[in-house]
Amino acid sequence: MERLTPRAGIGQIAPHKPVRAPHGGRPFIDLSLSHNAIGPSPRAITAYRQAASNLHRYPDSEHTMLRAAIARRHDIALDHITCSNGSDEMIQLVAEAYAGPGDEVLFHQYGYHGFAKAARLVGATPVVAAERDLTVDVEALVELAGDKTRIVFLANPNNPTGSYVPVEQVQRLRADLPAHTLLVLDSAYAEYVRRNNYDPGFGLVDDHDNVLMVRTFSKSHGLAGLRVGWAYGPPAIIETLDRVRPAYNVGLAAQAAATAALGDEEHEAATLAHNDECGAWLAHELRAMGVRVYPSVCNFLLIRVPPDPAMSVATLQRHLWDHGILVKSLTSYNLPDCLRITIGTEEENHALVAALREVLD
Ligand code: PMP
Repeated sequence: MERLTPRAGIGQIAPHKPVRAPHGGRPFIDLSLSHNAIGPSPRAITAYRQAASNLHRYPDSEHTMLRAAIARRHDIALDHITCSNGSDEMIQLVAEAYAGPGDEVLFHQYGYHGFAKAARLVGATPVVAAERDLTVDVEALVELAGDKTRIVFLANPNNPTGSYVPVEQVQRLRADLPAHTLLVLDSAYAEYVRRNNYDPGFGLVDDHDNVLMVRTFSKSHGLAGLRVGWAYGPPAIIETLDRVRPAYNVGLAAQAAATAALGDEEHEAATLAHNDECGAWLAHELRAMGVRVYPSVCNFLLIRVPPDPAMSVATLQRHLWDHGILVKSLTSYNLPDCLRITIGTEEENHALVAALREVLD
């Protein structure tokens, strides 16, 4: 008798493995995931608690209040918005709706790992364009886009590199893609970017029928634990995603908290100020130890460890573990000399620097 096996291609998807300290158990400083160091708005926490009395009810399948709050905040139309269980789900929904076996899904070399997963999940072929100096090479993407390319994913800025693509280059990319290709701008870290030549994608969506922007509440709004993402796109694409997504994909408390978070612009400003200040301090301290810190416009830093046979990335990670600090190694991205460090609270950053000084100074 034939054995039960998953569909072809599923075996190529690696199960997600969070970073864990080898000795388990004791309290740790977790800088391994790009969360918001100062947490969510108190208003979001209140709304979350208030939602508790309604947990026996199903959530609003149309995300009405949440979409209205997003629309107000960004001055955009309701029928251009849909929401998801984190932006990870949105990336998968896009792949489900627009790609399948025989199709190609194109993204950049160190692009967010969710893109390859989404492509494989729907049986499409992932195609990867080389980057230059850990930055997206728009020409390389265009060169690989062809008849079979259904989706191009661009994380802008990108995780784990922290680099971004200036708006003129994104415009050029869009203009040079085939009309049948959907350009997905994953702008998960948009709020953090302080550059005049950056644009998260509202204008591109408005001007074209084959561009979608994906956003998240996990970063600047500090609600990673609730899983809320959203997309802004032409109504035809939004309607398509609404057909594909599960009806109750965003929980009731998650919708309430995310809606409240949008009303607290002060908290978001404090998040961004913290990130600017602590990110600059951390980068300065790391560089002073001889560590290469790549320019980052996100809430994390990508570092390359100086070549030293006695202090490999694994040894360094182990040393940090022994100090109760978790950071992310990037072997899965084929960046074996690199670590991604989330910008933590002031105390966390100081603990990290002190631990690194013991071995790098
Ligand atoms: N896109 C990028 C570039 C990310 O870094 C992440 C989170 N690490 C996501 C999407 C997914 O975020 P979430 O599902 O929490 O919204």
